[in-house]
Amino acid sequence: MVDEKTLEKYAELALKTGVSLQPNQALMINAPIEGADFTRIVARKAYELGAKDVHINWSDDELTLLKYENAPDEVIGSFPDWRVKLYDMYAEDGAAVLSIRSTNPDLLQDIDPKRVAMANKASAEAMKNFRKYTMNDKIPWSIISIPSGDWAQKIFPDQSKEEAVQSLWEAILKIVRVDKDDPVAAWDEHNATLKSKREELNEKNYKKLIFKAPGTDLELELPEGHVWKGGSAVAESGVVFNPNMPTEEVFSMPHKYGVNGTVSSTKPLNYGGSVIDNFSLTFKDGKVVDFKAEKGEEVLKHLLDSDEGARRLGEVALVPHESPVSQSGLIFYNTLFDENASCHIALGKAYPTNVKDGSAMSDEELDQHGVNDSLIHVDFMIGSEKLDIDGIKQDGTTEPVFRNGTWT
Ligand code: ZN
Ligand code: ZN
Repeated sequence: MVDEKTLEKYAELALKTGVSLQPNQALMINAPIEGADFTRIVARKAYELGAKDVHINWSDDELTLLKYENAPDEVIGSFPDWRVKLYDMYAEDGAAVLSIRSTNPDLLQDIDPKRVAMANKASAEAMKNFRKYTMNDKIPWSIISIPSGDWAQKIFPDQSKEEAVQSLWEAILKIVRVDKDDPVAAWDEHNATLKSKREELNEKNYKKLIFKAPGTDLELELPEGHVWKGGSAVAESGVVFNPNMPTEEVFSMPHKYGVNGTVSSTKPLNYGGSVIDNFSLTFKDGKVVDFKAEKGEEVLKHLLDSDEGARRLGEVALVPHESPVSQSGLIFYNTLFDENASCHIALGKAYPTNVKDGSAMSDEELDQHGVNDSLIHVDFMIGSEKLDIDGIKQDGTTEPVFRNGTWT
């Protein structure tokens, strides 16, 4: 097992660098019951740092599955008001929100994708207000991961459950730099690197990016006033926080009407408890007009049909192929990790913060600026050592941005 001291280091990193918890602030944690021991360490550390209240929303894969197997459609397709109120209450109070993930990627593979889509839609609709708090950086929030037995064995199928969990702990702790003497300092340094990359891209202010790789020939227009972000973010209160741990990406948004060509996935996508693999999407004027998948095509179809904006893009992210996640050589079947091993794009909602003054824009203004809106935001991986990216400058000239999967 991982020793208590290391777990404390990870908990402290999540609280200080992740959500940047302040004295007298409330903390809401979404946590799996399987990770109760670690979650209690986080809660204890949070109180030590001066949290006024730590509230845990427990989840349990086994109970989730039981509900999907047994509850009628009207229950699956509804989302309780009290839960919405709970999240809104903490958000209004300026709480920090930490999500600890350990989901089994195959949990819902035998459940009718229609029911999964129904539940996802209900929760996305109900949580619309709360999502504004996170997607506009109004409150500090962070997502981290810990192993669960099923997830670990999906990644290390030849190991016993215990061994697999140990292997996954080691991989995660290394990737999030908890193996360093001072993880908080290591993250400060890492954030400085990401900052210089995003500033460089903001200065370049490319008009378009062209992605070329086997099965991919995609042109992405970047909207006027687009902003590259990456690494730490700044909440409304002024605190600096890290939404994702790990994070290796700098990201912006494509123009919702300016995407053309075909793109092929390079890693499996875990969506709503099912895996979609070896798929490609063809875009015309920003919209997916054709798609196919070797695995999970039905799930992909439901994903694309979630709503009007689900067929358009809301994010483009650049990640060098030699990132620590990539170097681990593992496929995590978990977007938080896999997206940080690879360049990716996301179907659905764009972060309004990726366009200048976007947080203050009305829905109409966002649309005029090419900012996509949807109930979903689903990243999928398109990077590999074979990916080349060209940048088209405002004067129409072209220059290389990525060659063979990494920065030129
Ligand atoms: Zn991303
Ligand atoms: Zn994303």
